[in-house]
Amino acid sequence: MTCTVCGGAPPGSYELSMHEEPTCVSHPVAMRCALCGRPAPDQRTPGWSRWGASTRCPRCALGAIECQDDARGQIPVVRAAMAALGIELTRRVRVTLADPGPLSPDTTGRDGVLGITHQQWGPDGYAAVSIEIAGGLTPVHFGATLAHELGHAWLAERKSGPLPLPLEEGVCEVFAGAWLKKQDTPLATRLRAAMDTNPDPVYGHGYRMVRAAIVHAGIEAVLTSVVRTGALP
Ligand SMILES: [Zn+2]
Ligand SMILES: [Zn+2]
Ligand SMILES: [Zn+2]
Repeated sequence: MTCTVCGGAPPGSYELSMHEEPTCVSHPVAMRCALCGRPAPDQRTPGWSRWGASTRCPRCALGAIECQDDARGQIPVVRAAMAALGIELTRRVRVTLADPGPLSPDTTGRDGVLGITHQQWGPDGYAAVSIEIAGGLTPVHFGATLAHELGHAWLAERKSGPLPLPLEEGVCEVFAGAWLKKQDTPLATRLRAAMDTNPDPVYGHGYRMVRAAIVHAGIEAVLTSVVRTGALP
């Protein structure tokens, strides 16, 4: 185990990034990676790159989904994982990459930060027309974000009316959590653990509320109830 700053075994206390890379707490912290929380001692630490208005560490930049070609490799993997959970879209929704960095710095949830689902009013109500994902995410962040946004598209296809926000976002967070559970990496495990304790009243509370209902009634009964009645069973 070597420190991300001094390269040695941490002689004292250290903190772990979401990739579980240690950094001695004795080093100064000038900035942090927006994706994994890893600290850097200097604004110009080598290997670090700008990510929108934030910064990204070299570990998160490695294998990141930077362009539409990278996304093209990942999208079918996420769609297949969602299909295995019974979440399949009858209408294809185009997935595009937005400029690197949070799509909107003002929102606290996943939507508008890492991904967004554009919906349009049509003859059958609202329908998802396209999904945008922030460029430059790690494959794990990308997959969780896409799973969440595919949830919105799936709900738009099936539900009879608008859902209370915590229920809508809670269902989508459950899909993101299910995808993360299949990944089995430290980053995926820690992102999922962060969802368990997310204090956000819509995303965090919604996630725990829907998950509790699934534990109680099963995923099929919960999704059927949500799309038919707009409420948990
Ligand atoms: Zn160190
Ligand atoms: Zn990072
Ligand atoms: Zn959402």
